[in-house]
Amino acid sequence: EPSAKVIDGKSVAKQIREEISAEVTKLKEAIGVVPGLAVILVGDRKDSATYVRNKKKACESVGINSFEVNLPDDASEQEVLKYISDFNGDPSVHGILVQLPLPSHMNEQNILNAVTIEKDVDGFHPLNIGHLAMRGSEPLFVPCTPKGCIELLHRYGVDIKGKRAVVIGRSNIVGMPAALLLQREDATVTIVHSRTKNPEEITRQADIIISAVGQPNMVRGSWIKPGAVIIDVGINPVEDATSPRGYRLVGDVCYDEACKIAAAVTPVPGGVGPMTIAMLLSNTVSSAKRAYNFN
Ligand code: NDP
Repeated sequence: EPSAKVIDGKSVAKQIREEISAEVTKLKEAIGVVPGLAVILVGDRKDSATYVRNKKKACESVGINSFEVNLPDDASEQEVLKYISDFNGDPSVHGILVQLPLPSHMNEQNILNAVTIEKDVDGFHPLNIGHLAMRGSEPLFVPCTPKGCIELLHRYGVDIKGKRAVVIGRSNIVGMPAALLLQREDATVTIVHSRTKNPEEITRQADIIISAVGQPNMVRGSWIKPGAVIIDVGINPVEDATSPRGYRLVGDVCYDEACKIAAAVTPVPGGVGPMTIAMLLSNTVSSAKRAYNFN
């Protein structure tokens, strides 16, 4: 029978949005500044369009201005760079986000490098990642999804210091920064990736698991140490004839099995997903405050 606590990202994210909304009001009343987020979307991927729409809606819900640019799939890299450069210089914009993935004819690194680090609310600029990796330095922004994972651990009172953590996945946007953040919190961190031998045996040693792989139900009950805390970042569509859309979303972790063994686990959907957007809002407000030295 299930015994794990469900880590309710949806409700934590709602609480965070309320906190952010109050900060936005305070900023506006004190110095007349409204935080602004610019979002650049290139191409017509449906999933990307949905993410952008959700980000826009979330901005509205807390009083952040959003500016959206939609470019066609065959837009040039120069065009994207021009928008970035305009937003870099626009004082009403405090955060700039380029929705990934970009069309294959564009050089992602060139584009991410062009965002001024002061407005890099996704935290993907190499300087921000470099600061995240270096002891004794602080990045201006931390990538939203891994930041959301750590925030969930904090808000649920999970001790990280001295614990064994396993991060499954090493992407620039989730796995790698999640591992760096856990290390900054004094966990002992192991990264499992597609070339890892015995991932099950390694993962079973973890007190804390963050999984960001993109493989439905890969992490089975036998991978989990009794009492572990599990943050499941994966969002994977699987066929489901009983759903009106013909599919449903599951995580990387076999949720039913995890519920019987873990101390706590995030559901998919309703776990990390809503936290990612909440952290984006939080980064945008921090950026506006930093721009005006407002605390
Ligand atoms: P990537 O595809 O960029 O990275 C996947 C990582 O998993 C890679 O490092 C890869 O290893 C590793 N991997 C793949 N297969 C295996 C395997 N069988 N065993 C061990 N490791 C494996 O994905 P992302 O990091 O962008 O996303 C991961 C998941 O998180 C996806 O499901 C995505 O939809 C979801 N996601 C959710 C977000 C949210 O807001 N909740 C935000 C972003 C992503 P290698 O490096 O060796 O190739």
